[in-house]
Amino acid sequence: MRMSRLLAPTLREVPSDAEIKSHQLMMRAGYIRKLAAGIYSYLPLGLRCERKVEQIVREEMDNAGAQELLMSALLPAEAYQASGRWDVFGQSMFKLKDRYDRDFCLGPTHEELFTQTVINEVRSYKEYPMTLYQIQTKYRDEGRPRFGVMRSREFVMKDAYSFDMTQEGLDESYKKMYDAYCRIFKRLGLDFTIVDADSGAMGGSGSQEFMVKSPVGEDGIAYCDACGYAANYEKAQCIPEEKEFADGDLPLEKIETPNVHTIDELVGFFGTEPYVFAKTIIYKADDKYIAAMVRGDREINEVKLKNLVGCVDDLELAEPFMVREITKADVGFAGPIGLEIEVIADLEVANMKNFIIGANDTGYHYKNVNINRDFTPDRIADIRVITDGDKCPKCGQPIKTAQGIEVGHIFKLGTKYSDALGLKFTDESGEQKTVIMGCYGIGVTRCVAAAIEQMSDDNGIVLPVAIAPYEVMVVPVNNKEEEQMRLAEEIYEDLKKQGIEAVLDDRAERAGVKFKDSDLIGIPLRIVVGKKCGEGIVEYKLRTAEVPVEMTVEDAKFEAVKYIKENK
Ligand code: ATP
Ligand code: MG
Repeated sequence: MRMSRLLAPTLREVPSDAEIKSHQLMMRAGYIRKLAAGIYSYLPLGLRCERKVEQIVREEMDNAGAQELLMSALLPAEAYQASGRWDVFGQSMFKLKDRYDRDFCLGPTHEELFTQTVINEVRSYKEYPMTLYQIQTKYRDEGRPRFGVMRSREFVMKDAYSFDMTQEGLDESYKKMYDAYCRIFKRLGLDFTIVDADSGAMGGSGSQEFMVKSPVGEDGIAYCDACGYAANYEKAQCIPEEKEFADGDLPLEKIETPNVHTIDELVGFFGTEPYVFAKTIIYKADDKYIAAMVRGDREINEVKLKNLVGCVDDLELAEPFMVREITKADVGFAGPIGLEIEVIADLEVANMKNFIIGANDTGYHYKNVNINRDFTPDRIADIRVITDGDKCPKCGQPIKTAQGIEVGHIFKLGTKYSDALGLKFTDESGEQKTVIMGCYGIGVTRCVAAAIEQMSDDNGIVLPVAIAPYEVMVVPVNNKEEEQMRLAEEIYEDLKKQGIEAVLDDRAERAGVKFKDSDLIGIPLRIVVGKKCGEGIVEYKLRTAEVPVEMTVEDAKFEAVKYIKENK
């Protein structure tokens, strides 16, 4: 490809709505352009990168024995209605009607359709185990589309589904996908961590996520360097911390606390530590209201809470007017004493003594509160967010925490969909049994963003050869110099002949501009033809190297081919 012909509209300015590095760079490097919130076009460079990620995913899926097929993104409602997810997805699902007023959706994920396909097409138990996959565009009307293609409303996902006759079979199919995922993310050059994930409302017996550690990740992950434990916050089990509280059974006191709402303000007012308070938060869980309590220095983990109460739709903070109605007080003074809704206390709250809570009376708190004497929670459970320094649930050593980008998710589904849709098989002895399923997703387009998020420098994108849009950039320093142009052309043609994806920067630009663009768009290797071209000497520079190396033309070509082939 010649730079003069390539649609690579690089930008010098950082687009104002791009908050994170990968989004900024993908825009600046001319990889993507925004059409609407969470909807993007892929320009040639972005598409090449995306296709390479797809291809790696495809090769490893095929190697693992999975079969590729392709389904529509436009899907009739029936299968989703049968599984119940037509409603469960709520606003996240793009729903539409055809001209006959029939319901359709744009597929957010395809468990139902794959289950249906297997029901229709598989004739004998002898065809199991079977793993099917597709690489296809998904649609989710995300509440907060952001970060470019990291969280978009249209994205490419690889989704695979395994079908087995036994639990052991599922374990094996799952392990194959686990191994394939490790190979995929390694080939993409990603530094990733595998964490135990929440199986949530999906049911199922096990689930793991592949996370790319990054401060911009939207998932919290807890890990232990001592024993290797790693889990998503949603799953990470919290061990209650022992704290010192005032001794004895002190009498309950109602204290006037005017204009004191937050934990910080309370700490100032009472002159004590945040852990001596318990906060009570009112939530709306589907159509009922509940109160959740954690220690003042802790946060509630809403996913744990949602799973605990079996909430199907959203769990959200109660509206202020409902908080007032339920607590008979302004927001900020909620407490468990006298509440008529269910009170769920965190495990740590159960260990507190003589602590402070809101009094359900505007401007008042209770002091010296004791559980079972002053109130009794309806349930006591682990509902808090794990933090740095918490004890590892496996080995007791201090936990560390980080943010992660979820690039892949593998899931032992069990029989949720086969039960809902009726996927059964008749075994050798004539007995009817339910097929056991697993599902396995990779966010292909998110992987592109995650790779750029993790692999870039001040000058731009630094992708590995395997997924960079092109492999080698050949740059004549001055294309008015005929000899330079001729040699650059020759190197370019020769590299192409040897199967290298080369670009020739034949534009009438200054060398500095050409170097900047080459770095910005993330070409892993650059060969510069300059003043010494008469002596047959060129500059060879890896994107990751500080400085170029001078080489003969022959050496440069040889080294380039070797480097690209070795790193593909
Ligand atoms: P998240 O928690 O980030 O919303 P999810 O758990 O809902 O993701 P899955 O249903 O497990 O996502 O989908 C499989 C994979 O698809 C995810 O691991 C992720 O890489 C990718 N993915 C999900 N939602 C999006 C999105 N809105 N934009 C880009 N990729 C996505
Ligand atoms: Mg997931």
